[in-house]
Amino acid sequence: MKSKKIIIIAIAVNLAILAVGLWYYLSIPVDVSIEIDSRDYCPGDVVIIKIKTSRELKESTLVFNSQKTKFFETGKNDDSRLYRGLIAVPLNCKPGENALEIIIKFPIVGTRRFNRTVNIKSRKFKRTHIASLSRTNKIMKTLAEESRVARQLRSKITPENLREGRFIIPVKGRFSSPYGQVRTYGKRRRKGRHRGTDISAPKGTKIKAANNGVVSMAAKFRGIGNTILVDHGQGIQSIYMHLDSIDVKRTDTVNKGGIIGTVGSTGQSTGPHLHWGVYVNNVAVDPMQFTEKDIP
Ligand SMILES: [Zn+2]
Repeated sequence: MKSKKIIIIAIAVNLAILAVGLWYYLSIPVDVSIEIDSRDYCPGDVVIIKIKTSRELKESTLVFNSQKTKFFETGKNDDSRLYRGLIAVPLNCKPGENALEIIIKFPIVGTRRFNRTVNIKSRKFKRTHIASLSRTNKIMKTLAEESRVARQLRSKITPENLREGRFIIPVKGRFSSPYGQVRTYGKRRRKGRHRGTDISAPKGTKIKAANNGVVSMAAKFRGIGNTILVDHGQGIQSIYMHLDSIDVKRTDTVNKGGIIGTVGSTGQSTGPHLHWGVYVNNVAVDPMQFTEKDIP
């Protein structure tokens, strides 16, 4: 009898503690402030979205164009938590106001939705014709197959942020072809877009990892040549193409400035150079912005 009484009292005390805890949790106002750098963006840019909340998030979703991503926690103190999300403005993004949807879910108190817009300005990109590279059906097929493999490996999201500070330019050389360039190839004038920055350098020049990360692909391809992908975490990856030698293997950890390979002209290339690209949420963005400004 006595022990039954003790159990009942213990349950009652626990329920009371839970009720007080819940009452306290619900008494905290659900404050959310959203901060988007209010400037005009261009195709190739990365948009930084910061949120500050009074409670910890359970889930979050950011929807922009065909991208669906989430927020990652960047800091917390006694009464607030800080998160940031990154979205990429794709090369084919329509100029004007583009919708951005933010959905955040809190434990117990539920979901909050916010609709914002991001103003996209059109950007003029250079045009070039590359006569010596003919894009036959066979080459197109090879390139499509290799791109599919790389895209698949880039779709995996590592939750940790492995980057530290700004990116470094991976090779010393001459910038020969900018990001976004509108290209035509060979006699058939097949159209293409340049999804990275080309840096010309002699064959054998050492290539450095632009930032800390984990090698997500190190492969010898016929179309894009010898290629390395480095995963910097939270949806950011960098690509290094047309290499002569590959000095790392998949799952290797690399440090910013560490040698990963050497410049070559493998695959569809007109001479020794490094094709360097950065992907955010699997969308190719202008890699130079990662070297020029702080992206949290
Ligand atoms: Zn290139």
